Amino acid sequence: MRIAAGLFVASTISLLASSAAWSQTSPAKPAMAIPAAATAPAPAAAAPAPAAAAAQPAQPARAACTNPNALGVGRTVEIDTTGGPGFGFEHFKELDFLKEKEVVLTFDDGPWLGNTPGVLKALAEECTTGIFFIIGKHATYYPEILKQVYAAGHTVGTHTWSHIALVNKKLSEDQRKEEIEKGISATKWALGGIAPAPFFRFPALQHPAEMVTYLGERNIAIFSCDLDSFDFKARSAKQIIDNVMRKLEKNGKGIVLMHDFHKHTAEALPELLKRLKAGGYKVVAMRAKAPVQTMAQYDEAIIKDLKLPTASSRPLSSVVKTVSE
Ligand SMILES: [Zn+2]
Repeated sequence: MRIAAGLFVASTISLLASSAAWSQTSPAKPAMAIPAAATAPAPAAAAPAPAAAAAQPAQPARAACTNPNALGVGRTVEIDTTGGPGFGFEHFKELDFLKEKEVVLTFDDGPWLGNTPGVLKALAEECTTGIFFIIGKHATYYPEILKQVYAAGHTVGTHTWSHIALVNKKLSEDQRKEEIEKGISATKWALGGIAPAPFFRFPALQHPAEMVTYLGERNIAIFSCDLDSFDFKARSAKQIIDNVMRKLEKNGKGIVLMHDFHKHTAEALPELLKRLKAGGYKVVAMRAKAPVQTMAQYDEAIIKDLKLPTASSRPLSSVVKTVSE
């Protein structure tokens, strides 16, 4: 098992280039690390088949950098999500791929009005990037903002349909799967049919074992984090900056959890990115080797959900008539 896991690590991450809650509650930390989803059994023959994989255009590259003092991107890694590898030491200890002083910036719960564009602006000014874990419902509210995230060259992952905790015992297994799948299908819908990365983060970092197995069968990587900014609790931008820098100084590196949903995070980011640069930290971009394959039944469910109920199909002129002007 050890040897197999080692081989898997080697094939999971390949180095590409070196040039360049709102309802979030405090994560419930299990006493022990969750076993890697990478060791999940092979998909059962009876598992529903993903929709046929269609080739999609390559994601736009990040804009050329015009800021000579920018934080930039230290390196880009490509992730083979076969078997659903887990990342982030809070729950998954197997894939320790970051070097000293390397950070991965992650943003949850968007897209959201004002705050997500603020985060995008700060990242663009520093010519750097992150992973956005999207809530499906929010994607349907603000598809244009999500399109901006993708067009700017950032990695788009998903974070369920409605951000309900999947450890909630009231949910059936089918409902948990639906939360995961509709989040993915809604993100694809909002991106105009472009499938996001097979990168997933559980709400509140609570990982029900059977859904970890399911994501393994779906070849979707699971992201916990190494450092929680606790930005959803912060009362100011300064608190977020202090939290992240203090934890990074202690850990030396890590996948940082933040929320583009929150105002203080967007406010904190310009200064935080400058502090990362001054501290000698380098941002690592994480890309998926291939986009996620959505499942046709959930793509259809999203389209059905988004159809507004029609109260009447009578023509306007027969309903509204000007009687005085
Ligand atoms: Zn969240």
